[in-house]
Amino acid sequence: MKKDNRFETKVIHSGYSSDQHHGALAPPIFPTSTFVFPDAETGEHRFAGEQEGYIYSRLGNPTVKMLEERIAVLEGGDQGLAFASGMAAVSAVLMGLTKSEDHILCSQGVYGCTFGLLQMLRDKYNVEHDLIAMSHPDVIEAYIRPNTKVIFIETPINPTMALVDLKMIGLIAAKYKIKVVVDNTFCTPYLQRPLEHGCHLVIHSATKYIGGHGDVVAGLVVGDKETIDLLAATTQKDIGGIMSPFDAWLLLRGLKTLPVRMDRHCDNAMYISKKLRKHPSVEAVYFPGDPEFADYTIAQKQMARSGGLISFKIKGDKKDAQNFINSMKLLKIAVSLGDAETLIQHPATMTHAVVPKEARDRMGISDNLIRLSVGLEAKEDIWEDLEQALQQHLRKTETV
Ligand code: PLP
Repeated sequence: MKKDNRFETKVIHSGYSSDQHHGALAPPIFPTSTFVFPDAETGEHRFAGEQEGYIYSRLGNPTVKMLEERIAVLEGGDQGLAFASGMAAVSAVLMGLTKSEDHILCSQGVYGCTFGLLQMLRDKYNVEHDLIAMSHPDVIEAYIRPNTKVIFIETPINPTMALVDLKMIGLIAAKYKIKVVVDNTFCTPYLQRPLEHGCHLVIHSATKYIGGHGDVVAGLVVGDKETIDLLAATTQKDIGGIMSPFDAWLLLRGLKTLPVRMDRHCDNAMYISKKLRKHPSVEAVYFPGDPEFADYTIAQKQMARSGGLISFKIKGDKKDAQNFINSMKLLKIAVSLGDAETLIQHPATMTHAVVPKEARDRMGISDNLIRLSVGLEAKEDIWEDLEQALQQHLRKTETV
């Protein structure tokens, strides 16, 4: 494959060559726990890092390696690293880059379990953190301490869809020599490549758009060789949350259609967001492609398209939101995102239930907020289902 091939070609060809595998078009799965050494000395040299070659699948596996190479090419980093879940990736990165008495600066609003991990790191291992709105350099710089080792951000932030200016963060981090870690799950490298904006590491819950079919739980990290080598030799090897060869194979397959799927997710979400905006039962819509969205200009700068996720507030309270969700006929009530099926969920009681109410309020996760992962179905069918549920909601509120 040529280095300057386009993204749509790289998702299919990078990291794998059929020449080395009997011409097999699809990559082989190597479901082996260990690798046989031809002699004791080879074992010694491989363990000492003096000779290339596989040792044991927690330390590396050929199918997993293909995926690590493919995602590294797509994100524009030196190397990738695969994990058993997005959270295994997040925890390996945060624990690998910090030690007791270090400080993490985090975007105000992150996935609920990342929030939980930050609490645990603070309470058990004395790694402190601040969650702040990363809207202005002065605000961010005011929170940077001599012991700040990591700036961790999601953009778009789950589930409020607020955006963080990656270039601004990259410049601040360079000034203070802090590593910036970006959870790029919502965008994928097809829509946004944080390393191009001066950020250092990218994380994915590959469970989502990268897999794309709701049949795998997995995580990926991409960055510079030195940092990835460090993570591979420490928190990946010793904590051991590695990806199975079969899951890597599913993700290699999923990646081949990523651009096609993402375009369809983006088209459908744009259509649905416009419809939602006009409905009298909808209080607010949060979607990066909406010119009236607060962070629209940031979206224009760093996202190729606006993505497939929409959050919106339905008029009313928690019960109204739950009744609305319960009246879906086609849409599935489920957490996760990036699947072929349109998924609808209630962040305050589902993905972000672990976040205490005051913190949820600060993050903008109200009880009437609903998150929609717009799927690949016909956009008109998705809207018809939402519309019938909105009409039911409207009729109920009008009769009260
Ligand atoms: N990051 C984001 C933005 C997520 O939405 C999720 C899961 O929903 C995760 C990380 C965690 O990923 P996983 O469920 O694969 O562990």
